Amino acid sequence: MDIVLKVNNLTKTYSGSEGKLVRALEEISFEVPRGIIFGLLGPNGAGKTTTIKSICGLVQPDAGSISVNGWDVQCQRAKALAQLTAVLEGNRNIYWRLTPRENLEFFAAIRGRKPRRLNREIPELLEVFGLTEKANQPVRKLSRGMQQKLALAVTLVTGAPILLLDEPTLGLDVKASYEIRSLLRRIVQEEQRTVIITTHDMNVVQDICQHVVIINEGRIVANDNIQHLLDLFQVRSYDLVVGQLTPGQRTGLEQIPHLRLEPVNSGWQISLDMENPTLLWQALDVLGSEQTPIESVSRKELNFEKVFMEILGGAKA
Ligand code: ATP
Repeated sequence: MDIVLKVNNLTKTYSGSEGKLVRALEEISFEVPRGIIFGLLGPNGAGKTTTIKSICGLVQPDAGSISVNGWDVQCQRAKALAQLTAVLEGNRNIYWRLTPRENLEFFAAIRGRKPRRLNREIPELLEVFGLTEKANQPVRKLSRGMQQKLALAVTLVTGAPILLLDEPTLGLDVKASYEIRSLLRRIVQEEQRTVIITTHDMNVVQDICQHVVIINEGRIVANDNIQHLLDLFQVRSYDLVVGQLTPGQRTGLEQIPHLRLEPVNSGWQISLDMENPTLLWQALDVLGSEQTPIESVSRKELNFEKVFMEILGGAKA
């Protein structure tokens, strides 16, 4: 596998208020392969921005190293940073007094892109991002969604193979959020660029990320393929709807760990977050003892938001 980013034992402590030390990152290590959308997730204050800023060379870590396409961010800074481009605060990386076209020309120029290729590339980008009609209007007059699309277009025109995007869909309406998602998929599939996003929107994660790292209180609590995480949690959760239970059965079921019992119209709902399959057999034994009718058995549909909450819950326990 072609690894484009290696973060190795990254540690960062800030001095907070009244001289108190804030341990923002504690020996974080992960790798990002080429050509995927990679999610860097975690609750507020987990350490995501510190990680992203360290990768961009904007924060000096206390310990650890970062290499981008083989170049060390601290020792070979210019070469490493030339490999990446970042949108750190939504739509603020663009110039609001300039037009979309001028922004694209400006950011391409400061990255040393050749004008001849840009004559074709900039109109193409404006078209793909739905900005052709607004190409010559000052950016401050564009909607937030358009500004965010332009911010993304600007990262592309730099030609950098790695894009770091902090909350790329924040504050966008559903349509604009879907458009940005499909643009990101396209960038990755057609151009083999690598996209690293932070987001609190787990629908976006489930929709476009292939791999995630979840940080909590400065430590990595999950580093896995997203489908694997979904599968892992899905097979462990079942819902059963059953008929009426005797008091003895209820007591028996309530003693089974990870089992929740709730009354429903026709009887009871049993929710079982299984640590191992023997718990389901135990529940079935209790039901079988009175030949209780089982109306339905379903594997609970977990979305990534629930997986995320489960992982964070587990991390705190
Ligand atoms: P959010 O989702 O809220 O943006 P985050 O995961 O990006 O959070 P960071 O901004 O990396 O989290 O912050 C990690 C920890 O470091 C937090 O406790 C934060 O208060 C602290 N921190 C971040 N920057 C500084 C700073 N410049 N000075 C002091 N403490 C800081």
